[in-house]
Amino acid sequence: MTTTLERTIPPFKNEAVKSFGDPADAAAMKAALVLVRERFGRHYPLVIDGERIETEKQIRSLNPARPTDVVGSTSSASKEQAEAAIAAAARAFESWKRRSAQERAAFLFEAAAKLRERRFEYDALLVYEVGKSWVEADADIAESIDFLEFYAREALRYAQPQPVVPIEGERNELVYIPLGVGAVIPPWNFAGAIMMGMTSAAIVSGNTVVLKPSSDSAIIAAWFVDLLHEIGLPKGVVNFIPGSGSVIGDLIVGHPQVRFISFTGSKEVGLRINELAAKTAPGQKWIKRVVAEMGGKDSIVVAADANVDAAVEGVAVSAFGFQGQKCSACSRAIVDAAIYDEFVAKLKDRVAKITVGDPADQGTYMGPVVNEAALKSISEYIEVGKKEGRLISGGKRAGSEGYFLEPTVIADVDPKARIAQEEIFGPVLAVIKAKDFDDAMQIANNTEFGLTGSLYTTDEQKIARAKEDFFVGNLYFNRKSTGAFVGAHPFGGFNMSGTDSKAGGREYLLLFTQAKTISRKI
Ligand code: NAP
Repeated sequence: MTTTLERTIPPFKNEAVKSFGDPADAAAMKAALVLVRERFGRHYPLVIDGERIETEKQIRSLNPARPTDVVGSTSSASKEQAEAAIAAAARAFESWKRRSAQERAAFLFEAAAKLRERRFEYDALLVYEVGKSWVEADADIAESIDFLEFYAREALRYAQPQPVVPIEGERNELVYIPLGVGAVIPPWNFAGAIMMGMTSAAIVSGNTVVLKPSSDSAIIAAWFVDLLHEIGLPKGVVNFIPGSGSVIGDLIVGHPQVRFISFTGSKEVGLRINELAAKTAPGQKWIKRVVAEMGGKDSIVVAADANVDAAVEGVAVSAFGFQGQKCSACSRAIVDAAIYDEFVAKLKDRVAKITVGDPADQGTYMGPVVNEAALKSISEYIEVGKKEGRLISGGKRAGSEGYFLEPTVIADVDPKARIAQEEIFGPVLAVIKAKDFDDAMQIANNTEFGLTGSLYTTDEQKIARAKEDFFVGNLYFNRKSTGAFVGAHPFGGFNMSGTDSKAGGREYLLLFTQAKTISRKI
């Protein structure tokens, strides 16, 4: 049976990521970089109940490639303003929850259309605000569009009659209703996609939101909130409260009117949120729901029978794409002893070809790390790594201005060494020698995380074994460990990598809803 939904809305399809090989795309990107640079220094206030509110305290967003460039600034919410935003979201919930799924989904479709129109501008903003290369920036915005398109369709799917077993003498139904006010707390690394994905999933399900962006990427969040209001999203549905996580984070998470927290970020902050949210505040009527996607320490296992060249390419791209600042980045290559020396030699040659520089230049592969604190902490890990293994490539800062680091490879690392266990979140790869495939699988599972993993092999038995034993939320074979596509690779990790929410998957919206069973005697 063809439903109304299937007749009117085409099936979801991933947005193609631009390679910029087409001169028209490259020209459009160059023009967008100029345009966005002209907007540097603009100020973006808080948005509470549709009102723009200026504060004396501000958050400045710097270009990590040229930290003297102020990409923009936002106001910074006080605790009182965070409370006002939660109150506004609670008021708006009363009417927003009554809108139909069709109406709510229409906002997401409209937002996706606007984003497509301004795609190069958003790409350019990501280049400047977080240091993404052109292709990485475009992949982030393509994913943002995908989330909007995907979750809109998902909301419509969940609004359809849900299957329940028929019982004589009764008419039974199950409907998904929203939760209430949600706190959306995204990271800076997928500053477009994760921020828009988390926000849109919450609102399309009928919830209202206080959005506290990462202090490193608040400008793109301000643009998105402006876009939502431009398309007529009712005031109070998304309230924008940039502010330091350490100042307003606890208040938001612990507030009795907040029904759920949707968080993506580090393990440390995620665990703190989980603990705080478990405490019942006076006046609170529910158990808060926490969706927390956290860190990773992801491995690529290279078996003795693997295509070594393909494995080298997969490892290099997974380790150094966006400077290794992806939760899915490969930070451990676990290589069978039989091919270890060949792998390390080829990896060194491959890494030597990586270009590091200003991501505003089209040819740059690796840009800067996000901020000075990241530069410092990653540099400290490199020093630790030099003692824990053999430095093969990189190991130093690159350039004088900006937060640039060389792609760094450290070989002969013990599986229990710090750089093999702790999330570094930068361009540092540990190469670990495994005695055989059994040993490699054990090493692969020896961290507290469980986000992504990949195995290079030509052996079906090893594939079958890894399907059972490689304990990660996203497992790949003979391909990189990064680059999950919405709908195709629902994303989320095990253990200390989080609550396995599977963003971009069919179960995701269930996290933002509760089911109501309605039975009527007939
Ligand atoms: P982060 O430092 O944990 O920050 C994430 C968000 O939490 C930011 O908005 C931050 O605000 C806020 N925050 C900080 N302290 C808080 C508190 N006490 N209460 C409430 N909110 C607080 O992480 P990040 O550096 O932005 O992102 C990198 C991390 O994210 C890595 O660990 C990476 O693996 C992980 N990540 C995971 C996934 C996944 O799907 N599993 C995806 C992407 C990234 P401020 O900026 O104001 O501090």
